Amino acid sequence: MDYVALNNGVKMPMLGYGVYQIEEAECEACVSEALEVGYRSIDTAQAYLNERAVGKAIRKSSVPRSELFLTTKIWVSNAGYEKAKLSIEKSLENLQTDYIDLVLIHQASNDYYGTYRALEEYYREGKIRAIGVSNFYGDRLVDLAEFSTVMPAINQIELHPFYQQNDLREIMKDYQIMPEAWSPLAEGKNNLFTHDVLKAIGSNYKKTAAQVTLRYLIQLGVIVIPKTIHRERMIENITIFDFHLTEEEMKQIAQLDTNQTLFMDHHNPMVVKELTKLGKIETMDK
Ligand code: NDP
Repeated sequence: MDYVALNNGVKMPMLGYGVYQIEEAECEACVSEALEVGYRSIDTAQAYLNERAVGKAIRKSSVPRSELFLTTKIWVSNAGYEKAKLSIEKSLENLQTDYIDLVLIHQASNDYYGTYRALEEYYREGKIRAIGVSNFYGDRLVDLAEFSTVMPAINQIELHPFYQQNDLREIMKDYQIMPEAWSPLAEGKNNLFTHDVLKAIGSNYKKTAAQVTLRYLIQLGVIVIPKTIHRERMIENITIFDFHLTEEEMKQIAQLDTNQTLFMDHHNPMVVKELTKLGKIETMDK
């Protein structure tokens, strides 16, 4: 496993296990299995409604807490200084831990400045080791970075071969904000798993298109958190540290970029409206 030092020196695995869209009932078994096969970083969120299952799995695991890296995210409905603090307490309780390694603001909506002030406070108290954001595009990211006392360590964004976020990554480099890819495998869209270019490159190393994709992103300097509920795919997705893509292969994959989202355009007012509706779902009582 490769690690990266975030802008505050905290070490984070370059590859983790994402649990979005894994039902609470099966999430505990999935996380236990991921830990068994070698994952050490888990990416959950208040809105995924499975923090408690993650907490149970890490509690039962023999892996020491100090070797784990836990990420959660504060949902839109918990935005604002006071509500965010309450929600962090709830996440700590759900995850059955005294500290969380990384907490992100899930969306750049609602009172995210209040949320960030709460995160800064918990960070200073040592209850959160690193703080950051998700789905922040250039304008809002720069504004937050310029008007905060703790620089966000991470921006978790949609990032895969078809949407490589080159412009945003340049801005993030200036602020030493590390890119983390959500949906690094594009959830298989655009036939990623059978894509000709990715498969052809993979055949040079006996690797799959998924492995080539994850390797590509890591070589770009992007943290990845692929999700799968299948043990054999968990193993496949983590077995990417035994080969290296050449410059020419990197160039070929760079050309797959369409510079367009495959999921949602955060600049579209209707998307903001939909996220706000979702924000009204109560996540605090779960
Ligand atoms: P991914 O790009 O990780 O793709 C997951 C899909 O690909 C699943 O359907 C999975 O199926 C399938 N899959 C995984 N590995 C393989 C493989 N080796 N071969 C074939 N199929 C495979 O998408 P996600 O949207 O889940 O993103 C990953 C993580 O990113 C999330 O779990 C979450 O933690 C985070 N995220 C964050 C967001 C944010 O707003 N901050 C938004 C979206 C995601 P199966 O499970 O059946 O194997």
